[in-house]
Amino acid sequence: MSLHLFNTLTRQVEPFAPLEPPRVTMYTCGPTVWNFAHIGNFRTFLFEDLLRRHLEWSGYDVFHIMNLTDVDDRVIKAAAAAGKRLAELTEPFVRAFFEDRDFLRIKPAHVYPRATQYMTAMITLVQRLLERGVAYRGEDGSVYLAIAKFPGYGRLSQLDRRQLKVGARVASDEYAKDDPRDFALWKKTDAVDEQVGAAWDAPFGRGRPGWHLECSAMSLAEIGERFGVQTLDLHCGAIDLIFPHHENEIAQSEAATGQPFARTWLHGAFLNVKGTKMSKRYGNFLTARDLQEQGVDAGTFRTLVYQTHYRQPLDYTDEALDAARKGSLRLGEFRERLENEDGRRRTGADAGDRLGDLARQLEADVRAALDDDLDSPNALARVFDFVRAANGELDRGAGGSGVAAALAVFDRVMGLFAVLPGGRQVAPELERWVHERLAARDRARKSKDFKEADRIRDELKARGVEIEDTPAGTRWRVV
Ligand SMILES: [Zn+2]
Repeated sequence: MSLHLFNTLTRQVEPFAPLEPPRVTMYTCGPTVWNFAHIGNFRTFLFEDLLRRHLEWSGYDVFHIMNLTDVDDRVIKAAAAAGKRLAELTEPFVRAFFEDRDFLRIKPAHVYPRATQYMTAMITLVQRLLERGVAYRGEDGSVYLAIAKFPGYGRLSQLDRRQLKVGARVASDEYAKDDPRDFALWKKTDAVDEQVGAAWDAPFGRGRPGWHLECSAMSLAEIGERFGVQTLDLHCGAIDLIFPHHENEIAQSEAATGQPFARTWLHGAFLNVKGTKMSKRYGNFLTARDLQEQGVDAGTFRTLVYQTHYRQPLDYTDEALDAARKGSLRLGEFRERLENEDGRRRTGADAGDRLGDLARQLEADVRAALDDDLDSPNALARVFDFVRAANGELDRGAGGSGVAAALAVFDRVMGLFAVLPGGRQVAPELERWVHERLAARDRARKSKDFKEADRIRDELKARGVEIEDTPAGTRWRVV
């Protein structure tokens, strides 16, 4: 079976077919950097991370775009309350987001466009929508999209078009599905916007973009410039973005380009904390920083997340966390055992081939599970089955080439999930390379070839590895 995904647009599991394979353009709505992202946001980003890793594993050439919303209603409100300019407020949260991303081993997107740096693209898009008669300037000086002029409006969220409140307008970035009105593309500046620096000149009046406009303008600018296309292969986010955010993105983009905006829409379900929706109000709002403080490592959190299908709600409880920690540790111990056995190069009997067979079966099973709409709970269950069976083979004295094959497969599968214990995981190839380089540097130093030793230090540094010579030997870390 090839990759099949549940497309929100059709409410069906469909074969995945990018526009121009092997290229896949993937847009994931990023954080609003007015605060720390919470673990519910990270659940979404982890589902997207698995999707990306699986696509790459399947041979696709993924170009991943994640935006940073650094101007919208919430950012402006928070900046004004703190007496700061936009960038002063958002910069620390952008940095924090990247730190949290790295802590949780989420692969960096290829680009992180920021709304405030794409004003030209946004203004051009509004201009086009005005020229096409789909947008209009309200008496309040803001520019709105006339949803009645876009016949496809409501398709993604399966809105009954009879509910459209024709001519009624909403200026706020967020509103409910039972209130579909013309929404603001461009909001006329007020005193607070000017005070925090959220105001730009445009032919249709000084103002600032609406949140929905940002994603349309930035995604179209990125794929248009790079690949000369106007259609994304994948657009992902959490389910609460279906309406109004993604519905509005479609309307703005398709009304302007005349092309489908995204071929496949994927939406991840929520994370609840002990059965309750996470919210500041309930005091159960957790960030990635809270996880670190509570000693929850990335391997544990990722195991917890992937043990639930991305379209099912996930309940974050102490028991679930404990089970995930144990699972992650079991995988780590198994890997260590494989490595030790591999190092000893025991020449087991034909039991070794049995281990290789099990490993090859694991790889096929994991691929099949993920091809089936990213069924990560099933894939992880296969991994644990494999660990049990492989441990049995090792107990019976399996060795030789089967161990090496099993280790190679296991590392490839772990590369998909990145669920091994620890807050920070180093790729096994990188680790091996570092050890080899450090040994070469030791030899150079012993023969007083300090020039060569320095060269190796630079070589390591170029790959982000920092070293420190201590009486106990050379320590290294990835920075
Ligand atoms: Zn978005």
